Amino acid sequence: MLLEVKGVSRSFGGVAANQNVSLTLKEGEILGLIGPNGAGKSTLFNIIAGAVKPDQGQITFQGKDITGISASDACAVGIARTFQVVKNFDGMTVLENTLVGAFNRTNSTVKARELAFDVLEWVGLGERASTPAISLTPPEKRRLEVARALATQPKLLLLDEVMTGLTPTEAQAGVALIRDIRKRGVTVLMVEHVMEIVMPLVDRCVVLNLGAVLAEGLPADIVRNPNVIGAYLGDRYRADG
Ligand code: ADP
Ligand code: MG
Repeated sequence: MLLEVKGVSRSFGGVAANQNVSLTLKEGEILGLIGPNGAGKSTLFNIIAGAVKPDQGQITFQGKDITGISASDACAVGIARTFQVVKNFDGMTVLENTLVGAFNRTNSTVKARELAFDVLEWVGLGERASTPAISLTPPEKRRLEVARALATQPKLLLLDEVMTGLTPTEAQAGVALIRDIRKRGVTVLMVEHVMEIVMPLVDRCVVLNLGAVLAEGLPADIVRNPNVIGAYLGDRYRADG
């Protein structure tokens, strides 16, 4: 198992954002994390990536306990993430943004630049290296978030709603990129709302509702699960029965 989340709970004030959440992720897998707004998906990402400490439970990565790890230590062991709200450095170029990721992996400017250019080619931003991040189109900004994460050379990539706001064509390009990321050996845990995108892409789904795991399984079973339809999918699928 690459990642094991065991019985993780976290509250903010009176809100139980995560309640006894457990899930596992095998190396090379694409796991979809779905559920309504406020279900606790981003909180779980924050806990795995070291931005938030759990009140209870354990996170194991490659067999090592990383519970309560710092964000920089999570990066060092090979966990990278994007943010639901894009967090590129607007005042910096596309290359400079990507270098911020790359310098997590190397102190050598030469190596960091090599790595950054490789990643920018990979995500389709090779031509935009010297463009200020602020002038990118929205889909390009999403790609830059992914580039910054990939430049840390992660084993596990957490993608938090990277397709939001994309046209169907742009989203299909995003799907192709995620497939390619997996092909190159990076395991992916992704939060996504558009079921037409998630279901064909992921190997397995975990559904969160009110902070707890509501269901887990193959996409084909998840879309037919009455509990999942009741809590989340109903309004998305009712139209076509
Ligand atoms: P999702 O990503 O599934 O929409 P979140 O994990 O962002 O859900 O939020 C789950 C719940 O936890 C929400 O009620 C949210 O308001 C609350 N929450 C998340 N992070 C914080 C925080 N840093 N401070 C206070 N409340 C938070
Ligand atoms: Mg969220």
